Amino acid sequence: MDKTTHSFQAEVKQLLHLVTHALYSNKEIFLRELVSNASDACDKLRFEALDNAALYEDAPNLDVRILVDKEAKTLTIRDNGIGMSTQEAIDHLGTIAKSGTKDFMGKLSGDQQKDAQLIGQFGVGFYSGYIVADRITVESRRAGLKPEEGVRWSSEGTGDFEVEAITKASRGTDIILHLRDEEAAEFLSNWKLRGIINKYSDHISLPILMQKEEWDADKSAYVTQDEWDTVNQAAALWTRSKSDITPEQYVEFYKQISHDSEAPLAHTHNRVEGRSEYTQLLYVPAKAPYDLWNRDKRGGLKLYVKRVFIMDDAEALLPSYLRFVKGVIDSADLPLNVSREILQESRDVKAIREGCTKRVLSMLEDLANSEDTAKRDQYASFWKEFGAVLKEGIGEDFANRERLAKLFRFASTHADDGVSLADYVSRMKEGQEAIYVVTADSLLAAKNSPQLEIFKKKGIEVLLLTDRVDEWLLSHLHEFEGKPLQSVAKGAVDLGKLQDDEEKKKAEEAAENLKPLLERLQASLQSRASGVRVTTRLVDSPACLVAGEGDVSGHLARLLKQAGQEAPDSKPTLEINPEHALVKKLDTSEHFDDLANILFDQALLAEGGQLEDPAAYVRRVNALLVTASA
Ligand code: ADP
Repeated sequence: MDKTTHSFQAEVKQLLHLVTHALYSNKEIFLRELVSNASDACDKLRFEALDNAALYEDAPNLDVRILVDKEAKTLTIRDNGIGMSTQEAIDHLGTIAKSGTKDFMGKLSGDQQKDAQLIGQFGVGFYSGYIVADRITVESRRAGLKPEEGVRWSSEGTGDFEVEAITKASRGTDIILHLRDEEAAEFLSNWKLRGIINKYSDHISLPILMQKEEWDADKSAYVTQDEWDTVNQAAALWTRSKSDITPEQYVEFYKQISHDSEAPLAHTHNRVEGRSEYTQLLYVPAKAPYDLWNRDKRGGLKLYVKRVFIMDDAEALLPSYLRFVKGVIDSADLPLNVSREILQESRDVKAIREGCTKRVLSMLEDLANSEDTAKRDQYASFWKEFGAVLKEGIGEDFANRERLAKLFRFASTHADDGVSLADYVSRMKEGQEAIYVVTADSLLAAKNSPQLEIFKKKGIEVLLLTDRVDEWLLSHLHEFEGKPLQSVAKGAVDLGKLQDDEEKKKAEEAAENLKPLLERLQASLQSRASGVRVTTRLVDSPACLVAGEGDVSGHLARLLKQAGQEAPDSKPTLEINPEHALVKKLDTSEHFDDLANILFDQALLAEGGQLEDPAAYVRRVNALLVTASA
């Protein structure tokens, strides 16, 4: 095959530009990425060889070797893993196959520091070589192919790359970095490289080998020997005993598997014995990934069986509301040829899933309920990042519903955040029977919701729910510790024992006296309101809208609309405040019809709704302004 030239996919070009311009602050990570790719390639070979031992080609000992050539100024990362065919080299090194790549590129801001963090999460992998190299040559041969079916891939990492056929006796891949002049001294130094490997790649389960160097007095320089030695510990981190692992090693391992540049919030590492035998090492990240809401996103756990890597992103191992958790499961029971389909049905996997869910929840409980304020603060920050996802669990994981509900935190009329349902219940007023909640698009809208006025006046706490999933949450979470959750935007207010007899009597009288007014209003608002009634819930506002007990709230109807879904067409009830000056004057006004519609429109605006006919509203208000200023 002659040399052919190919163009990088547009996203790769963009990524390469960022790699060379934004990632220079922590250059050495390129080695971690390339060693990790080499180790993945060996994992893949081991996995494919389960069905086809011939792939080992009489060289069953897998390892990664780092070679330094000071004269040529090259650094080579060599593995004897699965290798690549010509087509694979073109596909894998010229395009990015990851789902959500376009989305990710769209999130980049142009601010190099922020982008550098984001790219870290995304994982630059192979392309990180261009942080230190101005040309990369890859020589590879896929296991099982003939020696003359090798491939050489080469590129300066700008617009395009070249590919040609070569003969390569040994299977696997050489990544040859032609170092930039200014990087050469640092990254050709034997001890420096050993240091980087110890720092980032100690836990890689394969041996990473380097040639020894010895001082040559004649040449007065270090000279590379033929002898190789193993630089890393070469035992998979999770198989080591907890007491042999330093906190730094746990953090490094997390960074490696998650591509996160920040340390995780917490981890748990256990060997589980019993019905199903497995090791779990689970991490809760500190920051939400850019694709937390990507619905195609799979789980964050890697599955191993008896130390053999089986698959990334094994979503069957955790429920989807815990998709932010990263880590490793190493099972002793599963068959090595397990597929995603088998995983879905396996009883062992079910046991692992339950076990992991419990572990993650207790990890979160430990933070949330800790005596230590620093830990509780960590939980607060976790909640900020992942709370909305955890809420999905209420519909998804019936068995852990109560534990989940205890972990939830809300804003309320008493505190801007961090209110647990237990806090709320402990502060309930004497005679209060329900947990009151209001949903809105924003905290400010929720706080100022007219529906809250009476609750504020009486000092009754109301939870302010402003996440998009909250409406959905309410449809699954009906009670907590025997106390029903009651939306203040639905049905007539019944404060029950919180209202004294005198107040109740006053309200009944007002309703009786205002009957004729209510009928007139109903006639004016025929097409808009399902009913009009007097309320005690308002203090300062003249009117508000409420949904029927079984109807969707105005807030939910708006969310559905935004999501392009049909909202059931139910008209709200207009409630009026008999004590308000405007309401008192209404009956005798010449502009009754306009005022009735304005009351309705304002009530809609106050709860964050949109007017169907804004021009008509403006016209009515202006007509009144003219009479008022006359
Ligand atoms: P990622 O590893 O996240 O998939 P990379 O950009 O690091 O992304 O690598 C892209 C692909 O190139 C890999 O998925 C793999 O298929 C292939 N690849 C990279 N390095 C090697 C290697 N040393 N041996 C075999 N294949 C490799």
